[in-house]
Amino acid sequence: MQGGLLAAPAAPPIKNSGRKPRRARTSYNDSMSLVVVGSVAYDGVTTPAGSHERILGGACTYISLAASFFTPVRIVGIVGEDFAQEDLDFLTSRGIDIGGVERAPGKTFYWRGVYSEDMNDRETLQTDLNVFGGFDPKLPESYRNEPYLMLGNIQPALQRSVCAQMIAPKLVGGDTMNYWINDFRDELLETLKQWNFLLINDSEARLLSGEKNLKRAAARIRAMGPNILVIKRGEYGATLFHEDGYSNIPGILLDNLKDPTGAGDCFAGGFIGYLASLRVSLDGGAASGLELARAVVYGCVMGSFCCEEFGPDRFRTLTRDEIEARFQEFRALTAF
Ligand code: AMP
Repeated sequence: MQGGLLAAPAAPPIKNSGRKPRRARTSYNDSMSLVVVGSVAYDGVTTPAGSHERILGGACTYISLAASFFTPVRIVGIVGEDFAQEDLDFLTSRGIDIGGVERAPGKTFYWRGVYSEDMNDRETLQTDLNVFGGFDPKLPESYRNEPYLMLGNIQPALQRSVCAQMIAPKLVGGDTMNYWINDFRDELLETLKQWNFLLINDSEARLLSGEKNLKRAAARIRAMGPNILVIKRGEYGATLFHEDGYSNIPGILLDNLKDPTGAGDCFAGGFIGYLASLRVSLDGGAASGLELARAVVYGCVMGSFCCEEFGPDRFRTLTRDEIEARFQEFRALTAF
C-alpha cells in the first residue's frame, strides 16, 4: 500500500443526510471523543460461508463501528464519488461523526480477498487504492482537542502527521503491518515513539523486534515507545503486556463464523473504545492491568461479533446488552 503519495484534489466535505439517525447514542458535540483514522473501503469477500462482490469495509469503518458501542467517535478518511449515502448513513446511525471524511474525485478504495477453508488464512486478490492513494489526512479543527486517537494501518508518516495535528492527545496508539515494518522501518520507529499502545499480531511482533521469543519481543517493542502492547494471536486470543507484567486472554470460539474480515480492526475498536469510556488517562493516571485486560476482552468480544455476518453487517443489529452478555460468558469461561 502507498497511501499519501499523491495529492488528492480538494473536494467538498461530506454532509450528513437530512435523515434522522436510526439510533444515535451520542451527540456530535460530545467532548472526549475517540478520533479514528484509516481506510474506508468497499471489499469483495469470499469465505466458505459465501461470497460478496462489494460490501462496506475498511479499517476505519470497522474500528469506528466497534468503538461506537462504547464512546463517541469521530472519523477521518477518504472516499470516492461512488461511495453510497446509505453507507454514510449507517455510520451516522451509530452516532459516528463523519465530518472528517473527504469525498474526492475518483473511486473508493477497493480490496478483494478469499479465505481458506478454516478461515485462518486469506489471500488478497485485488487492492485498488483509488482515492486512498492520495490520502493526506486533515483533521477538522473541531477534532483537534480530543483526548483519544486510534491510528489505523496507514503509512507511518501519515500516522505521525495526524498525531501532530492533535493538540494534547492523552492516549494514542494504533496498528501497523509487515509492509511498513519491512520497507518503512525508520519512519515506523519514529512514529512508535509517540504511541501509548500498539496492537500487532505475533508474526509482526517478531518481525518488528527481531526476536523469536514473544516475551523478549514484547520487551523490545515496549522500549520503542508503546508502553501497552497487545499481541494478537488469531483464534487463539491475545497477550497483553504492560508495566506490571502480562496476561494471556484466550480467543472466543464461535459456532457460526461467516466472515473474519475486519475482526482485527473491531478488536482495536473494542479495546480503545472501552478505555475511552473509562476516561482513562484524563486525570493523569494510567489504566490498571485489570482495566487493560478487560479492554482486551472487549476487543475479543467485538472481533467475535464482527465474524458472525459478512462485512460490518452484525453491527446493524448488535446491542450493548449482547456485548455485556458475551463479556460475562467469557468471564465465566475463564474463571477457575
Ligand atoms: P482486517 O481483517 O482487520 O485486517 O481488516 C480488513 C479491512 O482492511 C478490509 O475491510 C479492507 O478494506 C482493509 N484493507 C485491506 N488492505 C488494506 C490496505 N493496504 N490499507 C488499508 N486498508 C486495507
